[in-house]
Amino acid sequence: MIKFLDLRQLNARHQTELEQACSRVVQSGFYIGGPEVTAFEREFADYCGSAHCIGVANGLDALTLTLRAWLELGQIKPGAEVLVPSNTFIATVLAVTAAGLTPVLVEPNPDTHLLEVAQVEEAITQHTRVIMPVHLYGQLVDMPALMKLARQHNLLVLEDAAQAHGASLNGQLAGSFGDAAGFSFYPGKNLGALGDAGAVTTSDNELAQVIRSLGNYGSTEKYHNTYQGVNSRLDPMQAALLRVKLPYLTADTERRRDIATQYLSGITNPLLQLPQQGDQLAHVWHLFVVRTQRRQELQAWLQQYGIETHIHYPLAPHQQQAYSALRHLSLPVAEQLQHEVLSLPLNPLLSDAEVQVVINACNAFKPSAEEVL
Ligand SMILES: *Cc1c(COP(=O)(O)O)cnc(C)c1O
Repeated sequence: MIKFLDLRQLNARHQTELEQACSRVVQSGFYIGGPEVTAFEREFADYCGSAHCIGVANGLDALTLTLRAWLELGQIKPGAEVLVPSNTFIATVLAVTAAGLTPVLVEPNPDTHLLEVAQVEEAITQHTRVIMPVHLYGQLVDMPALMKLARQHNLLVLEDAAQAHGASLNGQLAGSFGDAAGFSFYPGKNLGALGDAGAVTTSDNELAQVIRSLGNYGSTEKYHNTYQGVNSRLDPMQAALLRVKLPYLTADTERRRDIATQYLSGITNPLLQLPQQGDQLAHVWHLFVVRTQRRQELQAWLQQYGIETHIHYPLAPHQQQAYSALRHLSLPVAEQLQHEVLSLPLNPLLSDAEVQVVINACNAFKPSAEEVL
């Protein structure tokens, strides 16, 4: 059986260090905030090349609190339009509506599945205030071009970097291109905690302060509340565990790239459209997503070989019941992708032999009904 991702095994690699980190927290007496949180924030900010990292409870809060902070700072007004990709994970859109803003869904490039400058530019109106590029599957959106467009139109940029820890372009990392970025450390992400956790990175001092305050009841000084905040703080236990795992992220990413390279050269079945890769380092392969019109059959075929696959994502945000108000929209690229994408197993635990089993199974794939067509 080739599992999509075995979280238990993933963390078992660091069993001793993780246990030591837990004991450190137990013995520290700091159970909210404290030295582990501060140290992780410093280490992750340095890793991304950002001035600040603000730990929060999860990735969704990282995005929501950043948008709320811009509202508090008067940089955007309630109801302002935020451009998001039409094929993203629902959390990107949830952050926009939770902050009382208006999501505007922009179709991605059908080959890269990423936002492109031309489509973004077309969607800009007089109400647009923010662009939220999503580095989907771990691949960077063309950030230099997008930032140029944003500056021309005086728009803010919030990167959704939840899938892209460590993706880089010319030495610059995901989370350091935009005005701010939201990260998730959900256990299955490339840098995963052992529970929920998230962070915002930014080099804007004032924004960093407001986000920190909003996540701590809106207080700037204990029992003095400047904003109607929430409770969304990075748990010190998770911070300590993330500090154990951060130093291994680079090696894990290298292994992911190595596996992706094997898939890209090994899978030759024309029924599978392989992901497009631009700059090598701009992709950290959170997911390896192929496209095929015979998805259901391919998924069942791989299952027969004991290969577990997943679909990211089966339903675009505008087709979710939660967003019935967006249902009338026609977004053909997102709608086609949701029917054709399939994620193959790709994680640092896979052996070369397992990678070869996946390649062989993909190459052997023949839809059973082919002769009928
Ligand atoms: C995982 C994810 C999020 C949300 O992160 P959580 O920590 O689960 O709240 C947001 N955006 C994208 C693209 C994600 O993949």
